[in-house]
Order: sequence, then structure tokens, then C-alpha cells
Amino acid sequence: MNAPTKLRTRKCRICREPYMQLNSLKVTCGKFECQVAFGLKHAEKSQSARAKKERKETRKAKDAMKTPRDLIPEAQIVFNRFIRLRDADEPCISCGRIEVEYTIGGQWDCGHFMSVGAKPELRFEEKNAYKQCKKCNGGSKYARKSHTVAQEYEIRLRAKVGDELVDWLKGPHAPKHYSTDDLRAIKALYQSKCKELQQ
Ligand SMILES: [Zn+2]
Ligand SMILES: [Zn+2]
Repeated sequence: MNAPTKLRTRKCRICREPYMQLNSLKVTCGKFECQVAFGLKHAEKSQSARAKKERKETRKAKDAMKTPRDLIPEAQIVFNRFIRLRDADEPCISCGRIEVEYTIGGQWDCGHFMSVGAKPELRFEEKNAYKQCKKCNGGSKYARKSHTVAQEYEIRLRAKVGDELVDWLKGPHAPKHYSTDDLRAIKALYQSKCKELQQ
């Protein structure tokens, strides 16, 4: 004797009205307009899935073509974010303020002690970068001001980490050459470090 067919009451995917489902492929109540609407919805869905897949492939291809020039700023953004998170409870390394004004770009930056321009080999050196307020990092166009900021940075850094490290930061160092793999690894490393700190 055959087991009785199990009939289930389901809700139509389109009009939400209950219907008896005779087989699992049937997902609408069976009204013509519901069948048409479901067919359209389904087609749209698979189209957008296809488009999504294509976008992903394009992104992958674009990423594979990136040069160190493209990847350095990407890794730098993540490294800088890590420094801000690491020093979240620290004052500005230059002016020592804890409370600073809000600006359009935010309140805090990652400030490199030896600038990236002067010592590019220290651009990803954690001991060379500290949280700095926007005002100090903004490097005013007035030479006198940025000179003062740099002096204050050095005084506070010497007090914080000691002379030996500061003297080492001042160099000289061997130049660094980053491959695209190195830069991807640096970016990934700081992404995971940021994630850890945000938890
Ligand atoms: Zn229906
Ligand atoms: Zn400051």
C-alpha cells in the first residue's frame, strides 16, 4: 500500500494566499498572474546574480593588474587606521591634547614622525607613527608652525619611547622595495589588526 501523499498548506510566494502544495516545485497558488509574476521575479533574480558575478570577476581582474603604485596607498590607509585605533586612548603626539575640535575630515590622523616623503622606508613602521590631531597633522603652510609641531612631536616621542628608538628612526635605513604581494600582505595584516582592535 502506498503511503498517502502528504499535502501541505503553503503560502503563495506572490499573493501570500494559502494553497495546497501538491509538489515541492509548485511555489505559487496557481493563479495565472501569480505564475507570471513569479516567473518574472525569478528571471530578474538570476539576471542580477549573473551581473553580480560579472562585477566580481571584473574586480578580480582589475585587482590582479594593480601595481605597487596602486597598492601603496591602499595599504597605507589601513595602516593609518590601525595607528589611530591602537592609540585611541592616547593624546595627540604633538600637542598633547586629548580633546580636540571636530573638523570635516574627522578629529584624528596617523602622523608619521619621519615623514613618508623623507623616509618612505618607514611608511609602514609602527614605531614611526602615532595618533596626531588633524590640526597638528594638517601641516600648516606656515613653515614656523610645522617646525614647532615637528619639535613637539620629537620631544613627546623621546619621552614616550626613549632616545635610542628616536635616533634609530632618524636613520639612515636601507631602502625598502615592496612587491605587489608584499603590499597585499601588509594590507591584509593591518585589516586583521584593525578588526582585532575594534572587537
Ligand atoms: Zn498567488
Ligand atoms: Zn595636536
